[in-house]
Amino acid sequence: MSVLVAGVDVGGTKIAAAAVDIEHQVHHRRKRPTPGSALEVVDLITEMVQELPAVTAVGVGLPGLIKDNRVLTAPNLTGWDEHFDVVELLREALGVPVFVGNDADVGLLGEWQAGAAVGQHDVLGVWMGTGIGGSLILSARPYRGATGVGGEFGHILVQPGGAMCGCGRRGCVEAYAGRRMMGLAAEAERAAGRNSALFSIMAKKGKPTTTSSVWGAAIAGGDAVAIELMDAGIEKLGIAIGSALNLLDPDLVVLGGGMTEEFGQKLADRVEKAAEPWTMHVREDRRYVAAALADNSGIVGAAALARAGVLTG
Ligand SMILES: [Zn+2]
Repeated sequence: MSVLVAGVDVGGTKIAAAAVDIEHQVHHRRKRPTPGSALEVVDLITEMVQELPAVTAVGVGLPGLIKDNRVLTAPNLTGWDEHFDVVELLREALGVPVFVGNDADVGLLGEWQAGAAVGQHDVLGVWMGTGIGGSLILSARPYRGATGVGGEFGHILVQPGGAMCGCGRRGCVEAYAGRRMMGLAAEAERAAGRNSALFSIMAKKGKPTTTSSVWGAAIAGGDAVAIELMDAGIEKLGIAIGSALNLLDPDLVVLGGGMTEEFGQKLADRVEKAAEPWTMHVREDRRYVAAALADNSGIVGAAALARAGVLTG
């Protein structure tokens, strides 16, 4: 086996980690629920990496704004701010170089290195999980903007003055299509007297929140609230994707994240239909695909980030 690096994918509900070899193959994969505080997250990542065979570097994908290997904000994780130096804490605990990237950026990087976007020059990545992540490959390079915080697809405005978003603004696409916000909307329906199978399924599965598999089961069972919220989320996602396509004209849209793992290519096809009315130039040759590495995209991409980081110092 070649030299291994660790790839860690931190989501709003779960953390996955594995050792990844130079061929992007994933070994010793493990998964745990995301704990409630930033320090506990660091401790858990440390423990999970220590369980792996020896690695020479660690890459971590996190749902937040990340600049110069520092997390600026992470609205879908509790207790994170720019003073919390996750890289330094992990480096001290593990004794190897540590690199962090935005979760959607490492997800799309994984797909670009070894999945659905291999060889592509212009790609929009949309990651549907606890929040809505976004990432871009433009002219065959990852694009992050002038200061590294671009590509925040989830905070494209789809409804001025609309639903409150985790970023503190109103009407972002994440406020409609992010799973956390969809869960809050379902709770508001319940408070207004309209119950949903989401909550009984959540209790039966022993989940603390409405995870992607809870949404999958509720929708498969025909739950009206879950279906309506999902339809509304996809409709808003279509508006945001149409706007992004008009601006950037990518050849490929890759859908990733927990909701895409749950619903697969069917979700990508629905999103394509929803984007069509908002796209100026609908191209027959533009493809919408579900992430090929499924729940390993983030791990593979985080590992690739760490390898690149070690090379460039
Ligand atoms: Zn927002």
